[in-house]
Amino acid sequence: MKPLPQQHAAARSSSFGYACHACSRCCHDKHIQTNPYEVARMAAHLGMSTGAFRARWTQDGEGTALSRTVEGACVFLGENGCTIHPARPLVCRLYPLGRHRAGDGTESWKKVVPHPRSLGEFTQDGTIADFLEQQGAQPFIDAADAYVDWVNAAYGFLSGAVEADVPAPDVGDLLDMDSALARYCDGHGLEPPTDIDARKDLHLQILYEELASLGGTIDGKE
Ligand code: SF4
Repeated sequence: MKPLPQQHAAARSSSFGYACHACSRCCHDKHIQTNPYEVARMAAHLGMSTGAFRARWTQDGEGTALSRTVEGACVFLGENGCTIHPARPLVCRLYPLGRHRAGDGTESWKKVVPHPRSLGEFTQDGTIADFLEQQGAQPFIDAADAYVDWVNAAYGFLSGAVEADVPAPDVGDLLDMDSALARYCDGHGLEPPTDIDARKDLHLQILYEELASLGGTIDGKE
């Protein structure tokens, strides 16, 4: 394996490439975080509801991280690698890249230190932008940013709610995309969208409306 280049912040135009040799070591002992969009993508891939997916495949059924086996492997690691590869979460698409998004929305990138016995190799065969394209990462990046923005808004509201002794919403229930959409569409006489990105957009709208109905002050979303 080539020596790991020094970590650095980088732009999407920076030289980067990674040749994965499917040793699967990166799928062990990792916290694979998941947001509602990623849960919806994996649930659709497996033909199940987001609620059933959260209960069956995520830590404590909370939908925020994939479960692991007692050996520390991701629950979706099979004999021949990832069993949900077309629907894998963002961190799996980015690895071994780390993305940082600053408060003003600007992003920077750095190389993540791989498993010490990983067979993967860094290359200079393209750019970060090329790598992201190959990994189909952009819809997942857009979704991650949108949900983080909502979490930040909710955190601000919930902090104020605690001080004001206002009951907090059941966030876990709200974050289950299928049930949130079903409830909302039932109540508004709407047909739930089937397109995954349209479902994500409606889910985020519901989440912001929920905060607004509770008196949250949400920049640009009231
Ligand atoms: S979802 Fe797939 S790629 Fe990601 S850690 Fe699990 S097995 Fe590995």
